[in-house]
Formats: sequence, C-alpha cells, structure tokens
Amino acid sequence: MRIYDIIEKKKQGLELSKEEIDFFINGYMNESIADYQASALLMAICLKGMSDEETFFLTDAMMRSGDIVDLSEFEDLTVDKHSTGGVGDKTTLIIAPIVASLGCKVAKMSGRGLGYTGGTVDKLESIKGYKSTLSSCDFLKQVKEIGICVVGQGGNLAPADKKLYALRDVTATVNSIPLIASSIMSKKLASGSKSIVLDVKCGNGAFMQTVQEATQLANAMIKIGKRFGRNVRALITNMDVPLGHFVGNSLEIYEAILVLSDKGEKRLTELCVALATEMVSLGLKISRNDAMARVSNAISSGLALEKMKEWIAYQGGDVSIFDSPEVLRGAKYKRAILGEQDGFICSLPAISIGRASMLLGAGRATKDDKIDHFAGVEITSGYGCMVNYNEPMGYLYSSNENLLMQASEAIAYDLMSSPPNELTLIYDIL
Ligand code: URA
Repeated sequence: MRIYDIIEKKKQGLELSKEEIDFFINGYMNESIADYQASALLMAICLKGMSDEETFFLTDAMMRSGDIVDLSEFEDLTVDKHSTGGVGDKTTLIIAPIVASLGCKVAKMSGRGLGYTGGTVDKLESIKGYKSTLSSCDFLKQVKEIGICVVGQGGNLAPADKKLYALRDVTATVNSIPLIASSIMSKKLASGSKSIVLDVKCGNGAFMQTVQEATQLANAMIKIGKRFGRNVRALITNMDVPLGHFVGNSLEIYEAILVLSDKGEKRLTELCVALATEMVSLGLKISRNDAMARVSNAISSGLALEKMKEWIAYQGGDVSIFDSPEVLRGAKYKRAILGEQDGFICSLPAISIGRASMLLGAGRATKDDKIDHFAGVEITSGYGCMVNYNEPMGYLYSSNENLLMQASEAIAYDLMSSPPNELTLIYDIL
C-alpha cells in the first residue's frame, strides 16, 4: 500500500477502506508518512468528504492510537459531556457535580483552552491546590468513592488526533464535518463513558455558524457513538452571545458556585439543567421528566453544591472559596465598561467578549502561553438589557493594568431604542 495512491483515491472522491485508513493513521504515527502527505490527504478529505463508514474507521483508528480508559466497573452509570466550545462556557463545572450528586459517575478528562474558548482544567487550576494530574489508579479510586473526578487530558488519549489536529490547525483543514466528528469522538470514546451528551454550539462564537451545520455535525457524532455501542444525545445550542455573566477562569468558577447556590443567570442555568437532564436520564435510565425534577432539586436543595465542595476538596483544592467566593473576583486591576449612549443591547458578539478576555490574559494565543487566572470580563448588562450613557455595563479584570484599555476597545455591541427579540437558547435535542 502507498500513501500516494490513498491521496489520489480520495482526490478522485472515492471511498477509502478500513485498511487504507489504518495504514494512514499508523504510518503517520510511526513517521513513515510525512506531514506534507498527511496534509494533502486531509485537504482531499475536506474537499471530497467522507462516508459514514470512512468516518467510523477514522474515529476507530484514532481512538486505538493510544490508551483506552476502562470504566466497565461502573457499568452503565458513567456519563460524559462535550461542548464544541464557546465563550463563558463553564457548564462542565456545574453539571458534573449535579449529575454525580444524583448517582451518575463522572470520570472526566478535560482539555485546556486555546484561543478564546477556555478549557475546564484551566478554570479548575485557578483554585489554589487543585490537582489536575492524577495516576489512573487514583483517578478511578476517586470516581468510585465520590462519583466524580475531573483531570487534564493526558498525552496518550487518542494521540493520533492530537498530532493531526495540530497539522489541521496550520493547513486550513479544521473545518470539515467528518474530521471534526472523528476528532471529538475518538477522544470521547477513548475516555470510556457509556453515555455521552454533546453540546453542539452554533453562532458567531462557535465553529459552526448555522443550526444546519451544527445539526449535521451532531448527527455525524451520534452515528459514530451508536456504532461503538454508546448512548449519545446532542443539544444544538446558541453561541451568539456569551454564556452567563462571567468569562475568564476564576470568574467562571465564581459563576459556577452562584448557579449551584441557585442564584445563577437564567440562560446559563437553563442550559445546565437541560444538559444535566439528558445525562441523568441516560445514566440512570429514567424518563426526561423524572431526570429534570431530580436535577432541579439537586440545585435548589444545595445537594449539588455540597458535591462540588467534596470534589474540589478531594482533589486538593482550597475550599475556602465556597465561604468567600468574592476572592475569585480578586484581580489586581478592575475597570468599568461604560455605556457609550442610552439603549437596549441588541447584539453582544460572543467572539468580541472572548477576544477581550484573551487580551486581558485569560486565554492562550499559543499552547505554551501562561494564563492569568484572575483575568476576564464581567457583563452586568447583557443582551436585551438597557444601558445608560456613562454607566457601567460590565467590568474588565486583569493582573496587568496596561491590558485594560486595549481590551475595552475589543468589546463590541449594538444598541437599539426598544428591547430586541429574545434569543433562542436550545434549537434542538437529537
Ligand atoms: N474540537 C476537537 O476536538 N476537534 C476538532 O476537530 C474540532 C474541535
């Protein structure tokens, strides 16, 4: 078999066999296939697409390129969730303790953030002492004892995806549904949970700009998951405006505590309830209505907040943040974002808030950049709210005063004289 012939075949739009796809992944991992050949094949896939069969084989080959976590001791109680990424998306921090407090098992490996979408592990590391690296034995022990463990994704989970993703990032080949679906699912499948809930975002702050594209991606991932015997559900959700009031690492921990104290922003809370409901209904094999009632009760009774405390303490984190969460808003410098005129906010692009947060130091431009855990943006008057001239509509936080001015210029919004239509939050559940 020759990689040249495989590239030529895909260039002609023909279907690749399992053997050819395995040959590509194995050869790329053992370096007998060069980056330029892999790039050519990726570009041919972007232009000609892949059948469901090919997408399944590619996912399988990438999943098998590294470790596969065995969670079979927890039977069908293991639940995982993946978001395709968004600004202010701290849902994992909220949902994981909710579902664990109800008896599901959360054995989660989360990524770090690159660009303006923050990673769950970066957020957790803003809690002093939180250990995001554990041995696999300690990881499983914690899941067994308290039902929840969240660590950073180790280097050997679907390493073929890691290597290919880095190549796609610099060869304009990220944006392909079969490549994105196989990339995400290879990692989720290798992580071992029986049930997977996908939050597929669409809008200006997301990979997928339209509901139609997001639905295609969701369907591709559901098909892959089913072929591997997993239960998969997907929510198609809006990412035109940031999720919640806070964007930035410690600020998002603060907001997670607010939601679990039953004082959360409405849309963020609604999305967390919807995602947790799907996870609980799959994990415990109960109806959606029953699951939703249990999820709502876990928030209002404080059960989920107690589970979050137990989890953070177990992983070495400083639990004094639960007594005085204001320390999480303790950046050295803070500057108000002042309204430029009177009006109702009718557009507040997630992407502009994400960029501002990154400029303040909350994100990474390259994977080796250091994060300012206290940096970020608070939006006190978001989409649909009235803003008055020269009055605060939010705040910028940073440890570096010089970054505040630059970031305030990145914030974009439009005003109108009457309130805009409410934005849809959840377009569909598949
Ligand atoms: N996230 C992933 O993990 N992979 C992609 O290809 C795109 C988003």
